[in-house]
Amino acid sequence: APTVGVLALQGDVREHVRALEAAGARAVLVRRPGELAAVDGLVVPGGESTTMVKLAVAFDLLEPLRERVREGMPAYGSCAGMVLLADRIADGVPGQPTVGGLDVLVRRNAFGRQVDSFEADVAYGDLDEPLHAVFIRAPWVEEAGPRVEVLARVVGGPADGRIVAVRQGRLLATSFHPELTGDLRVHDHFVRVVRGG
Ligand code: GLN
Repeated sequence: APTVGVLALQGDVREHVRALEAAGARAVLVRRPGELAAVDGLVVPGGESTTMVKLAVAFDLLEPLRERVREGMPAYGSCAGMVLLADRIADGVPGQPTVGGLDVLVRRNAFGRQVDSFEADVAYGDLDEPLHAVFIRAPWVEEAGPRVEVLARVVGGPADGRIVAVRQGRLLATSFHPELTGDLRVHDHFVRVVRGG
């Protein structure tokens, strides 16, 4: 089984560990550069991107993360994790750095205070059945470069058409939290990417 790390600085780490193991990976926590070096792929969980990036700097992980992503390590970012994998952020705190790798502009807390958290069914990639997606102060992808494949958009409501899941090469990101629903299809997809699919 591939070894998939979960960046364990902050956020909903345990839920991803459980989902990855259920999807057939060996899940390990990543807090140090040596642990990062040992994984075949990495999940960057939801949480608070500003805090997570500060901790990544404090734990000497930001540069190693950038390097591994540049070298092609598969990575999946959910919510705050999507913010961390984005090359560009709108509504970040001034100077908020990212790991980057995804040629996208991501808007933080994009759905607004009125609808801070909500759930919706979204069609995802070539899955037959829609996913039930949980959004918690979620970002969306506001602009995507030509090499970015859009996997899911919101349908209906004020955010109609907004991009909420993307893939670029071995990088995957969702605005929503599949680790909270018991539906393993996004983690299955990521584990297939880690295996080379
Ligand atoms: N709003 C948070 C951020 O920008 C993300 C929230 C989440 O991960 N649930 O980091």
